[in-house]
Amino acid sequence: MASRLLTNIGELLTNDPTLGDETPVGRLHDAALVLDDERVVWVGAASAAPDADERYDVGGLAVLPGFVDSHTHLIFAGERSDEFEARMAGERYDGGGIARTVAATRAASDEQLRDESGARLAALRAGGVTTLEVKSGYALDVEGESRLVALAREVTSEVTFLGAHVVPQDYVADRDAYVALVAGEMMMRCASAKWADVFCDVGAFDVDEAREVLVAARARGLARRLHANQIADIGAIALAVELDCASVDHCTHVSDVDVERLAASSTVATLLPGAEFCTRSPYPSGRRLLDAGVTVALATDCNPGTSYVTSMSFVIALAVREMGLSVDEAVWAATRGGAGALRRADVGHLSVGARGDLVILNAPRAAHLAYRPGSSLVREVWRCESDDA
Ligand SMILES: [Zn+2]
Repeated sequence: MASRLLTNIGELLTNDPTLGDETPVGRLHDAALVLDDERVVWVGAASAAPDADERYDVGGLAVLPGFVDSHTHLIFAGERSDEFEARMAGERYDGGGIARTVAATRAASDEQLRDESGARLAALRAGGVTTLEVKSGYALDVEGESRLVALAREVTSEVTFLGAHVVPQDYVADRDAYVALVAGEMMMRCASAKWADVFCDVGAFDVDEAREVLVAARARGLARRLHANQIADIGAIALAVELDCASVDHCTHVSDVDVERLAASSTVATLLPGAEFCTRSPYPSGRRLLDAGVTVALATDCNPGTSYVTSMSFVIALAVREMGLSVDEAVWAATRGGAGALRRADVGHLSVGARGDLVILNAPRAAHLAYRPGSSLVREVWRCESDDA
């Protein structure tokens, strides 16, 4: 295809620390970049840019890598706004509402699920998400989970099998049988997923149960990630590090020992401030994790119960306001951090060779993402069509 020159960029965040101001976001001013065959082939000063087949002048606006949303529960039916209202009136979240979404999702047709999820996907994309992860987990039976994995694969290559979301009603008296089903037949039928995940927390699965599922996943060649420490610290992070999970997600309640453990590991801590916002829970300190040397990602956790969020800009604003991240750190976490949580080297940055997935803001600086919360600042999203991610 034709090469494209994107020029007169007021502020370009490349997330390449060898470029520009040599910070982690690799910031350049008065910059340009050239895309060829949907890859970045040149980055630098606008005055030094080479010719290209097409020239696109952004008039001094900011450009950054497309957002990488590494944690969504995109595919479900129905909604639970009544629970949100009840929580805002003072009730605590304990995970019990997932059963309602399971019932609605089991009852929905494929077409209905495509329609409802497609609307959320469109919102995420319009907000600048160019790569996203999608989990199963709202069927909790063999046929249903394999259907959700197949539907998720229509949307992305970053599909996660989450049969171990909660123990379904019909297995409450025999949890072991459900864990065995998840680690056995259900996982086998969902093996086209790239990832396996477990909700390892109070009210969901304990560490031994999570271990059984993740060890089975490893044996089947599925990569691993874990919902950990959202409601309480039951030892999930040590398990995640031991089993080389790419990411531990939530990390709301984290001990000093676990912070050290994460800092010494290749496991990313994915923070989901939409969940704390929507459950009115205390936010974890992202600052503490970053200062200890932990790699941090930010994601929407888009789900109907605890974070019906489809805006990465909103997540960035929350992380800056409530978790102690600088704007640069939050933008990095929502792009390159998310890529790390998916173990992807080709997205989340705009170095030469990266996919040309990028966002053009209706603002001269990326700081406006946090400075003007609630505004739609994404003017244009360029996303490669050559891959399904
Ligand atoms: Zn989740």
